Parts: sequence; C-alpha cells; structure tokens
Amino acid sequence: MPTIFSRIVAGEIPADIVYQDELVTAFRDINPKAPTHILIVPNREIPSAADLTEADEQVAGRMLIVARKIAEAEGIADDGYRLIINCKEHGGQEVDHLHLHLLGGRPLGPMLLTR
Ligand code: 5GP
Repeated sequence: MPTIFSRIVAGEIPADIVYQDELVTAFRDINPKAPTHILIVPNREIPSAADLTEADEQVAGRMLIVARKIAEAEGIADDGYRLIINCKEHGGQEVDHLHLHLLGGRPLGPMLLTR
C-alpha cells in the first residue's frame, strides 16, 4: 500500500503543493501548527530517518536545501524557523514516509516540553 504522502506526490489525492522536483515534494500540512507549516518528503518512499543510507545522500540533502528555499519564499527566513524530523514511535512519527517539517511565522518557543 502506498503511503498517504506517496499518493500526494503522485497527485492522486489533493494537497497544497508548494514545490516539486525529481527527488522531493513539499506541501502544506493539513493540520498546521504554525502560520507556515510545510512538509518536505522524498518522492520515493523512505519509511523514516532511521532507514536512510549512504545511497540517500542526494535526496536527504535536497530536503534541507528545499526547506531553505521555501523558507525564503514564505518570507520566514530572516526571523528564523524550525526544521523537525520525527522518527518512529518515541519521536512521535505518525506517517511512515520520511518528512521534514518546516515551521515558522511566529516564535515557536522551547524545542521540547519539559516534564
Ligand atoms: P509526523 O507526526 O508523522 O511527524 O507528522 C505527520 C504530519 O502529516 C502531521 O503534521 C499531519 O498533520 C500531516 N498530515 C497527515 N495526513 C496528511 C494529509 O493527508 N495531507 C497533509 N497535507 N498533511 C497530512
């Protein structure tokens, strides 16, 4: 079964796509946690950050470069932003298709809630 993100990459289900190239696709999160909340995903299914190998260096690097370009296009680069990859259960990953969250547009507070 393709992941929900693979179906977005393929154009099979709608999403607000802000960027796409031969390696990655970026689209707005359906449940935004900040004024700008965009997900950058590899077009090819990689389940999580824990599954990255040396063969994925180009796509992993592309995800970061695209995040920087989108942050500039969204007008959040000067004030700053946060990039997050949740990995597997303890990381809070909900969709098993690697994705980089780009969040910004307001002060985001501390990185983690302490308890
Ligand atoms: P995770 O918790 O796995 O790091 O983040 C998954 C993210 O995917 C969540 O922020 C969630 O709102 C987003 N998401 C889940 N399903 C969809 C969808 O169908 N479309 C879009 N645009 N975002 C989704």
